[in-house]
Amino acid sequence: VNRRVLAIAAHPDDEVLGCGGTLAKLASNGHEIFTLILGTGIASRYEANDTEKIARKIEELREVMYKANEIIGVKKVFTEDFPDNKFDTAALLNLVKAIERIKEMTRPDIIFTHYEKDLNIDHQMTYKAVITATRPLPDETVREIYSFEVLSSTEWNCPLSFSPEVFFDISETIDLKAKALSIYKSELRQFPHPRSLKGIKLNSQYWGMRAGMLHAEAFKAIRILK
Ligand SMILES: [Zn+2]
Repeated sequence: VNRRVLAIAAHPDDEVLGCGGTLAKLASNGHEIFTLILGTGIASRYEANDTEKIARKIEELREVMYKANEIIGVKKVFTEDFPDNKFDTAALLNLVKAIERIKEMTRPDIIFTHYEKDLNIDHQMTYKAVITATRPLPDETVREIYSFEVLSSTEWNCPLSFSPEVFFDISETIDLKAKALSIYKSELRQFPHPRSLKGIKLNSQYWGMRAGMLHAEAFKAIRILK
């Protein structure tokens, strides 16, 4: 059966970090993949009054984002402009409405999104908005929701609480994930920063080892309707 999959992330790169290997695998198996990136990303790294530079950086990051999504086989990327690292200044209702709009257009049966207890406020609010926008009413199309982990946010919260129970084997797509991430140059750091190519591969080997696979992405099952 062909599934329709929507990955909903706060920032450009979260979709690849969190579930890029899984999306690539699902795409190669013929499923339809969409992503929704709610925030602009990157703006919080610059002085707020440097608007020209910020606009340019956001534009550059968007270009990279489209390329990275193409590499993993995403059919269409949707974007919104919620403020970087300031989702808490936006009304939750506006996030919910943005998600509902894209959900109606794509009619997904599977959603991947952030983990509720990430350190990053935008990730937390994205999670909250997703489960609000997918309340299980009788005509709801979404049957499965999973939370992914984003290195340097999920594991940097205290106390540590991400305990996944769903593992997707990404042994055959880890290289595509790494390729997509390597063009997100502005978002990558040097090892031992967890958001480095080496850190990302170590992490997928770590989850893989615990699930009898070479490389895995790990998820919390949030709501599964059978
Ligand atoms: Zn993020």
